[in-house]
Amino acid sequence: MTISSFRAELGDIPVEDHPRIVQQRSRDHYWYSPVLKAKLDHVTAEIVVSPRNNEEVKTVLRAAFKHGIAITPRGAGTGNYGQAMPLSGGAMLNLMNMDKVLEIKPDRVRAQAGAVMEKIDQETIAAVGGELRFHPSTYRMASIGGFIAGGSGGVGSVRWGGLRNLGSILGLKVITCEAEPRELDLVGEDILKVAHAYGTNGIIVEAEMPLAPAHGWIDMVVGFDNYMDASRFALGVALQDGLLVKEVSTYAAPIPEAYFNRHKPYLKDGQSVVLLMVAPVAADAMTLFVSHHKGDLRYRSDKATEEELKRLPPVYELAWNHTTLRALKVDPTITYLQTRYPSLEHLEKIISLLGDELPMHIEVTRQDGVVTLAGLPLVRYTTEARLDEIVAIHEANGCDVFNPHRYTLEEGGMKRTDQKQLDFKRQSDPKGILNPGKMVAWENPDFDFSAGKVWLFDGLNSVG
Ligand code: FAD
Repeated sequence: MTISSFRAELGDIPVEDHPRIVQQRSRDHYWYSPVLKAKLDHVTAEIVVSPRNNEEVKTVLRAAFKHGIAITPRGAGTGNYGQAMPLSGGAMLNLMNMDKVLEIKPDRVRAQAGAVMEKIDQETIAAVGGELRFHPSTYRMASIGGFIAGGSGGVGSVRWGGLRNLGSILGLKVITCEAEPRELDLVGEDILKVAHAYGTNGIIVEAEMPLAPAHGWIDMVVGFDNYMDASRFALGVALQDGLLVKEVSTYAAPIPEAYFNRHKPYLKDGQSVVLLMVAPVAADAMTLFVSHHKGDLRYRSDKATEEELKRLPPVYELAWNHTTLRALKVDPTITYLQTRYPSLEHLEKIISLLGDELPMHIEVTRQDGVVTLAGLPLVRYTTEARLDEIVAIHEANGCDVFNPHRYTLEEGGMKRTDQKQLDFKRQSDPKGILNPGKMVAWENPDFDFSAGKVWLFDGLNSVG
């Protein structure tokens, strides 16, 4: 058996082969999508390998290359698009044992790929008063390597944009999958070859990230009787140059009262809300801005008691895809979309067309210097065909959709081949064994994205 020959070359590198545990570690949060759930539920690797340093990563990749074993890298497994699902079986490469913060400077930090973002911030705040510029709402679980390979932005993106912007990642150390794996140090534009490539073209073992001043952010919840008033306020906050914020997001009624269970005592029935993270220096100005917009400041964490602070999750754990998670806990039929509304008028139009079938959730972000309404609306899911219609309604009304119900890189939003990532894969993974099935261009360069067909990976059912 090839997997046993592969395993025989791993020496004392920790390996897990209990089928139940391997199956657990073969999963990410693909099940947020009923479409992906139906396609990927049966997927599992055969073993999980957990290297502890770069040399052990090389040993694993050397053996995988020799025996043709599929390797799927994994951080905390919190990705939402099935990115970390091993479509061809083989081995999961668990990076979470490589979790050290290696070097801290006043303006940057270098960490191993498996370091959890909250832990990185704890160390950098203590050492230099700096923190990661932005992080996903899975901050307390997710790894920096998984964020770079599979994420996009998050809490802090209202000020600092996203991972794809130049300067958001300063350097990566990557190990290739060849007969003799190489360690490559990528800087500048080369970083974009492996950033958001789902680990298809190299294993990230170290990342250097810029730091921003840490502020001991204050959580605020502001209520509005009308969702469009909430949206105007939120956009206004992001456009105010003097209001230092890390998070601005809006939630149309009934999302808050239906799904933000622990914050219920602070919410008013029927209100839509805006969630904010505000620097203490901007708190007074923010309360003024709230009153200018006739908002109803329902909660602020700097006025909360010790007991309240222990009981309540931070507001960022209501935001981003935590909103979907909280809705799913109450109503398992809910799913979501990722959208972009060019203006408040576009947003209003979509709400008028889809109403309560699409409870609205907006993350206000900065994209290429422009304050942008990035949507993560909930969807009251009925059928895949209706979900496709909702996507089509967005597109027909000039609103972009980055489909989270697809497991490939190209279909998830780019809708074209990323030539740089493909070219790099030819050098770094010549046998195509890193996370097979996720890069359409590698498997089928002639795939026609305009045909409206969904890509289905041939190897989906073959294990090993
Ligand atoms: P994993 O899920 O383990 O991996 C993600 C991808 O990267 C996979 O393709 C995997 O194969 C690959 N990979 C992992 N490690 C490496 C490595 N070292 N080298 C190469 N490839 C690797 N995402 C956001 O961007 N913003 C958000 O605000 C956000 N909020 C979320 C909220 C919830 C409740 C959930 C469930 C998910 C959310 N996500 C968000 C998605 C996800 O949590 C983040 O992208 C997270 O950073 C992924 O990190 P991870 O360690 O869990 O990676």
